[in-house]
Amino acid sequence: MNNKHQLPKSTDVLIVGAGPAGMTLAISLKQLGVDCVVIDQLPSPPEDTRAAFVQPRTLEYLRRLHVSDPIVDDGLKGRGFAMADREHDLIRVPYDTVDSPYPFLLIIGQWQTQRHLDQRFAELGGSVLRGVRLLNLVPEFPGSAATVVDSGGAVRVINARFVAGCDGLHSRVRDQLGIGFPGSSPAQMFAVADVKLPVGPPIGSNPRSRCPRTGCSSGRRCQETTWRGWWHRRHPEHVPPPSTTSMI
Ligand SMILES: Cc1cc2nc3c(=O)[nH]c(=O)nc-3n(C[C@H](O)[C@H](O)[C@H](O)COP(=O)(O)OP(=O)(O)OC[C@H]3O[C@@H](n4cnc5c(N)ncnc54)[C@H](O)[C@@H]3O)c2cc1C
Repeated sequence: MNNKHQLPKSTDVLIVGAGPAGMTLAISLKQLGVDCVVIDQLPSPPEDTRAAFVQPRTLEYLRRLHVSDPIVDDGLKGRGFAMADREHDLIRVPYDTVDSPYPFLLIIGQWQTQRHLDQRFAELGGSVLRGVRLLNLVPEFPGSAATVVDSGGAVRVINARFVAGCDGLHSRVRDQLGIGFPGSSPAQMFAVADVKLPVGPPIGSNPRSRCPRTGCSSGRRCQETTWRGWWHRRHPEHVPPPSTTSMI
């Protein structure tokens, strides 16, 4: 376990998962004076970009948590996005008319967003217990008993009045509670890469190219020297022409 804090025996709210959802909840509860504990199975926060855009409404909520200013300072303000079918624009969505204190699409890597959330939680006296994985949950009045294991293999029980499952796509919490995740996704090939270019297209330009074999690609600057590229290919039996989404 790479945290210096001991696992508590009990808490009001056990938050499983220190991604954006878990940390936003953790800060919200801390600001309200609610006792909470955050665990995450990863030894350290992820460093890849993942989500690269933050919407105006999200920034409005983050303002309540005193996180929006540093995040806006750290990102780039996108004016909107456009969707295209091959070479033709289908729709352009400008953000400068959005009725919000944040009339833009903020371009920022998820690792940066998470760093600001972690810092704010720490300012409030919180700390994430990393390298701690939820194994199972059993009801125990007035809440649940959560069995967790740390990276050293030690198994512990944390009693919590509430357990918040913020543990992502393959949620152990959802699994333990028998909560389904119905729905289906169309088969598609999709790749994202963040690449550093010493010299890239100018800010505001909209680089887009199409490869007839692999579908299409598009790109956008997401930091001073970093560009994000998307490659998207529909499954061969899905014949609609490839489309692209680009920032404007
Ligand atoms: C390559 C990539 C690109 C993406 N691009 C975009 C994008 O452009 N726009 C967009 O909106 N979204 C994008 N996403 C999706 C975005 O990253 C997720 O929507 C977001 O991370 C979800 O946040 P979350 O807090 O719900 O869950 P997560 O970020 O998945 O966090 C869940 C946390 O729970 C922890 N955890 C899981 N199980 C346990 C357990 N049993 N015990 C303890 N901890 C556990 C995990 O370690 C993880 O840290 C992308 C994702 C990837 C992988």
